[in-house]
Amino acid sequence: MIKTDVVVIGAGAVGCAVARELSKYEIDVIVVEKSADVGGDASKSNSAIIHTGYDAAPGTLESRLVVAANPMYDQLAEELDVPFKRIGAILPAMTQEQFDKLPAIKEKAFMNHVYDVEYMSGAQMLEMEPNLNPECKGGLYIPRESIIDPFILVQAYAENAHANGVSFMLNTKVTGIAAENGQITGVQTTGGDIQASWVINCAGLYCDEIAQMVGKAEYEVVARKGQFFILDKNTSCQVEHIVLPIPTKITKGKLMCPTIHGNMLVGPTAEDQPSKTDKSTTAEGLASITKDVMNLIPKVNVRDTITQYSGLRPNRVPEGLHVDVWDDLKGYVNLSGVRSTGLTLSAAMGKYVAQQLLEHGAKMVLKDNFISRRKGIVKFSELTVEQQDVLVKENPLYGNIICRCETITEAEILAAIHRPLGAKNMDAVKRRVRAGMGRCQGGFCGPKVLEILARELGCRPEDIDKNNAGSYMVTGATR
Ligand SMILES: Cc1cc2nc3c(=O)[nH]c(=O)nc-3n(C[C@H](O)[C@H](O)[C@H](O)COP(=O)(O)OP(=O)(O)OC[C@H]3O[C@@H](n4cnc5c(N)ncnc54)[C@H](O)[C@@H]3O)c2cc1C
Repeated sequence: MIKTDVVVIGAGAVGCAVARELSKYEIDVIVVEKSADVGGDASKSNSAIIHTGYDAAPGTLESRLVVAANPMYDQLAEELDVPFKRIGAILPAMTQEQFDKLPAIKEKAFMNHVYDVEYMSGAQMLEMEPNLNPECKGGLYIPRESIIDPFILVQAYAENAHANGVSFMLNTKVTGIAAENGQITGVQTTGGDIQASWVINCAGLYCDEIAQMVGKAEYEVVARKGQFFILDKNTSCQVEHIVLPIPTKITKGKLMCPTIHGNMLVGPTAEDQPSKTDKSTTAEGLASITKDVMNLIPKVNVRDTITQYSGLRPNRVPEGLHVDVWDDLKGYVNLSGVRSTGLTLSAAMGKYVAQQLLEHGAKMVLKDNFISRRKGIVKFSELTVEQQDVLVKENPLYGNIICRCETITEAEILAAIHRPLGAKNMDAVKRRVRAGMGRCQGGFCGPKVLEILARELGCRPEDIDKNNAGSYMVTGATR
């Protein structure tokens, strides 16, 4: 039987951040993930904003963790080589009713200890964002709202945790949790039993099902879908900040912002649904985004869409972010309600969970050889011509452009495949180096990436999946 000290269930932003934090200590940690890759579920289909917490419910755990996490990202992104920009958000008011709500929003920001929120006049807002609706009567500027590459963030947490000794069991589902005399003893998985004295439930949408395994399901999770458009990098109407609507009682509303790679992101919707797997986009959902965002940015051109996607927020019923531990079940930590700010708060959640373990008796001694830095894959397209020339001379595979839209070379794809926790399927390559993320969405590079993956993994193209097991790309030769 496999033995460890801690099992973390789920390799999303939160599970990987927890694993990275625990890898600072002399303990054995295994992350068990049912999918074929690290990256999570909600963690790879969100707005990719690192929030300040200005609008969180004051006094809640969520407010504390988001507000604490935001300032961590300057150092974290630098140490882990994660694309991150502090572009700031604006909250423009288009009607008198919206304008009248601004003082309350600023007051709430103060209650959350977010003091750097500023009033702006309509003219100032239009100067910051010339494509804004000229009706703008004024608004708020929140300078530390930021954007990040969500895929790289999670990979970076995972790779760095791995470099510090954490094991990852992918394609492995937790099916049961064992306890004796009120103490966790391990987990059952599709890959065999694991003996452990701590289990940390970071299973996002499925955290209620994990909690049921130990009789601690005091809530359920209802998926809240958010649909988005991604617009082409050269769409005619762009913004430089995160442009947010004034929230209503029901929803935070739909925004427009640049992604870290220069596309425009427009959305999301907020639709509760019974299914935890239905990630379809719908004509009605997308139409509602266009209608609402046009109030803010009238010339937004959704005809420049290169793709649409949706993500499912793990919405806890009853609501609220919880980190629960119980006296009658020692060794079990249950996270729930990591709904709309989990990408941001992951950085603080890692530390919070480690502290919970320390406070509840885990014997954890800090390592003196923790590796804090992680180096990402070289981005050929971001280098100067001179730097590119040097690389091509060193390794001619940098001279073979596979993805024309994003200028991704064969050498980068090989790096994605062969690094620790490397890519084993098409989406895993895409999320590491962006091959297939551009205007043609893999139309040109897809077959080449498939061939490279098969060649490097020593299998047939028919054996390569799009993402999870069985989602193969091709079924055989046609001629
Ligand atoms: C539309 C939308 C927009 C959002 N925008 C933002 C934003 O701008 N900023 C922000 O900070 N947050 C945002 N969020 C919220 C954020 O994405 C989530 O809170 C966060 O990603 C949750 O991370 P997680 O690791 O808890 O869950 P997940 O990413 O869902 O990961 C959970 C993992 O657990 C695994 N798992 C589940 N059950 C099992 C099992 N039995 N065995 C093994 N593994 C299992 C799953 O496969 C999954 O990989 C948004 C979310 C959505 C959907």
